[in-house]
Amino acid sequence: MADVLVVEDEESLLQTLRYNLSRAGHDVRLCTDGRVALEMVLGNPPDLMLLDLMLPGMDGLEICRRVRAEVTNPAVSHVPILMLTARDEEIEKVLGLEVGADDYLTKPFSMHELLARVKAQLRRADMGGVPSNAPLRLESDDLVVDVAGRRAVRNDLELRLKRREFDLLAYFLRYPAQVLSRERLLRNVWGYESAGDTRTVDVHVRWLRGKIEPDPNTPTRIQTVRGLGYMFTG
Ligand code: CA
Repeated sequence: MADVLVVEDEESLLQTLRYNLSRAGHDVRLCTDGRVALEMVLGNPPDLMLLDLMLPGMDGLEICRRVRAEVTNPAVSHVPILMLTARDEEIEKVLGLEVGADDYLTKPFSMHELLARVKAQLRRADMGGVPSNAPLRLESDDLVVDVAGRRAVRNDLELRLKRREFDLLAYFLRYPAQVLSRERLLRNVWGYESAGDTRTVDVHVRWLRGKIEPDPNTPTRIQTVRGLGYMFTG
């Protein structure tokens, strides 16, 4: 059972979410106003937050930004955030470093899908984002990944990676020279049990290439294997 904070100003959706999350065994707190939601998270951080993008008081992007900025209080800044968006094209912004949501769902979504995502986020949070059998330090050429400390260094310079980029890089380094399908990456890096939106993987691979490839436009480290997935070649 988890403490889930649902921030959504559309009453019918709010009640549907409350009903389904309660039935799945979670404690559900509801909020319809952005400013109040931020106060609730700061005062008593939930295990997971479902956050609508467009809200009265303060929008979801700003709330997410402010929660992530609470770096002196990891109980707040590490709250898993699942963003509820109305439009597909906001994906990159929502998942980006500036905002830092963990995942998103585009409205309208099925309750089945929502519950699967909630479960995946909670499981990941339980694991601390690190598989228990993972080696603590991974290296490839000029890249060094300190799994336990969640730091990645390239050419002795620390890489500024968002959490999921870090997890993805660590996973690539654990399985070098193997074709990794988008579905496998979603399952193992994102924690999804059923198939999710594979564009999430593509977006993160593109961001990661921008940070570790000598020339991101002609990637040599994370290669696209047409029709199959991606391969990390060192
Ligand atoms: Ca709304």
